[in-house]
Amino acid sequence: MSIEFTTLSLAELVEGLSSKDFSARELSEGYLKIIDDKNSDVDAYLEVFDDVLRQADKADKRLKRGEGSTLTGIPIALKDNILIEGKHVSAGSKILEKYKAAYSATVIRKLKDAGAVFLGRTNMDEFAMGSSTEHSAFTITKNPHDMTRVPGGSSGGSAAAVASGMAPVALGSDTGGSIRQPASFCGCVGLKSTYGTVSRHGLIALGSSLDQIGPIGRTVSDVELVFNVIRGEDPLDSTSIPNDRYPREVSQDTTYTIGVPRGFFERGVDREVLLQFDKTLKELESKGHTIKDIELPNVKYCLSAYYIIMPAEASTNLARFDGVRYGLHVEGENLFDDYVKSRGRGFGKEVRRRILLGTYILSAGYYDTYYGKANAVRRLIKDDFNQAFDVSGDGVDVIATPTTPTPAFGIGEKSDPLSMYLSDIFTVPANITGLPALSVPMGTVLDKGATLPVGFQITAPILCEDRLFAIGKSIEQIH
Ligand code: GLN
Repeated sequence: MSIEFTTLSLAELVEGLSSKDFSARELSEGYLKIIDDKNSDVDAYLEVFDDVLRQADKADKRLKRGEGSTLTGIPIALKDNILIEGKHVSAGSKILEKYKAAYSATVIRKLKDAGAVFLGRTNMDEFAMGSSTEHSAFTITKNPHDMTRVPGGSSGGSAAAVASGMAPVALGSDTGGSIRQPASFCGCVGLKSTYGTVSRHGLIALGSSLDQIGPIGRTVSDVELVFNVIRGEDPLDSTSIPNDRYPREVSQDTTYTIGVPRGFFERGVDREVLLQFDKTLKELESKGHTIKDIELPNVKYCLSAYYIIMPAEASTNLARFDGVRYGLHVEGENLFDDYVKSRGRGFGKEVRRRILLGTYILSAGYYDTYYGKANAVRRLIKDDFNQAFDVSGDGVDVIATPTTPTPAFGIGEKSDPLSMYLSDIFTVPANITGLPALSVPMGTVLDKGATLPVGFQITAPILCEDRLFAIGKSIEQIH
């Protein structure tokens, strides 16, 4: 390959294509070659599509006609829970191993209209349940910065593909941190936008009131570019936000007040991560931003509320996998036995654990005690954030925390599910509240001899993604 595509930003790739420095075919060939070299070690992709070059040729024709748009000819990797009509999609599960999608997700239609080239589907924790991509039914993805460690999850395949240069950008999904946490572990930028800004139509659901699709890329501008293509109102998703409400502001500000809820991260953050976080805050202050201590009194209940709401929603969403309508079917002695055998064999351990938890939570007599209570707590947490952002008082513009309490951990290190759940402590609040949040690399830390990336997370008020991009870009200049 004569051109080092992996060193170019998305904007530079777009520019290179339009000024004919290289063709879409050459670009895709370049990426296929890197995948060929690296995927057998990193295991980021479950499948590389067999029509990549055909898609690229189509993009070239379009560019030649002068009809290209922003992403025409740009290769993109897709998490294995986003539907493309006619292609396999498994959500990392045996139960959907042979399933082919009957229609395309709205984000896929938008990317296709823009002329993007789909490289393949990336590995993930089964049904997006996990924080390490160890719980895929098929393979364990490795962290390109240290192959003995996890890439994070559940969109670990997407983050590892971008971090290892096997894709310039990728889509993931985020229910409790699954875009931002792997972005942090792999040294990428990851965006979970305001709930309802990106259509969920055609995303295999985990927790419907929490899920959002979003981009993982190398730079903030790359992620912003893709977000602007995939977002927008969709009649096929009843929770999608009308276009005339977005964006909530076009900010002219260049400096912001950044709130830091220190009380929230007294517990369990690695010293090195905290040092890197504080160093970044200092730099932001020297660039003219104001740093202010804030309190979010109820945010400490976030993870507890999440592990009630998410399994409750997951158990209802996963009820459709009955061995009759989709994927794996195991013949039993009667219909009930079919269900039991198909689901027993098709779902992995973590998925079965959450279905059990979810059905228990929603059972008669417990619904109010657990689900009702968790939703009441969700309201309190939302109120905390609204108050922190309150424009009529002395509210802050954004809130900052580390993205994760630790850098990437070792493969097999977190065998206790509860310790794995703690890895999402800082990312879950954005899903509980629906607020937009971005993870941006804040340099590296040393952990047991390995140099590993860590992420800085910024959370903004509803529909104020522009603040995330602005501050994210200042952080990029620091590190
Ligand atoms: N790690 C969290 C979980 O296991 C979040 C998953 C996600 O965001 N999809 O539920």
